[in-house]
Amino acid sequence: MADKKCTAIVLAAGQGKRMNSSIQKQFLEIKGYPVLYYSLKCFQDSPLIGEIVLVTSENAVSYCRSEIVKKYGFSKVTGIIAGGKERYDSVYAGLLACGECEYVFIHDGARPFISEEILERGLTGVQETGACVIGMPSKDTVKIADEDGFVKETPDRKNVWTIQTPQIFSYRLIRDAHESIRKKDMSAITDDAMVVEQETGVRVRLAEGSYQNIKITTPEDLAVAESFLE
Ligand code: C5P
Repeated sequence: MADKKCTAIVLAAGQGKRMNSSIQKQFLEIKGYPVLYYSLKCFQDSPLIGEIVLVTSENAVSYCRSEIVKKYGFSKVTGIIAGGKERYDSVYAGLLACGECEYVFIHDGARPFISEEILERGLTGVQETGACVIGMPSKDTVKIADEDGFVKETPDRKNVWTIQTPQIFSYRLIRDAHESIRKKDMSAITDDAMVVEQETGVRVRLAEGSYQNIKITTPEDLAVAESFLE
């Protein structure tokens, strides 16, 4: 597996306004460790990953260096760089900072509960077409709404997945797709697979993550995260 050069881009440049805290959500603690620690630890310990690029806000770069990367010995982190205004700007900054690699695992630092098994499923998936997203089949029925708040459509639940991260791509594919979409309107882009879907004809493989792979967004999520660790 280690013959494929894989880099993880871990995103931690969001402001986390929904957390109602002056501390950015990725630095809040769960059981004594910052949220961001947990996913970095998984990538650090994984034999699949050679390099980690950490993207954070400009004013958090030195904090991340001393209080997270040095403190916990995350020796695979080769760059701690400033992100951008939108998530896709931070991803692009991360892509530019990667050394030579075949695949990139793009991951939200606000999702602490990834595992080696998820990374393995992602690597297996990406080798089919060059694009793979981690997610889970939806437990709920999903309705598509119209502009007036009425139900327009109900997709068959067996085909509905909710999407998580990491999202894994051939480096060349995702970099070219980002470069091409950056010249257009990106306001509707909410994940990396959409960039590949819109800019290339490449089919994106879905691979299972886990129902614990939640994104820490609101204070309630921190309590749920603590309960997972108990
Ligand atoms: O805001 P949201 O919850 O969608 O953010 C998902 C992830 O993307 C978080 O880990 C956040 O830190 C990161 N992000 C970023 N740069 C931005 C916005 C979000 O790195 N401009």
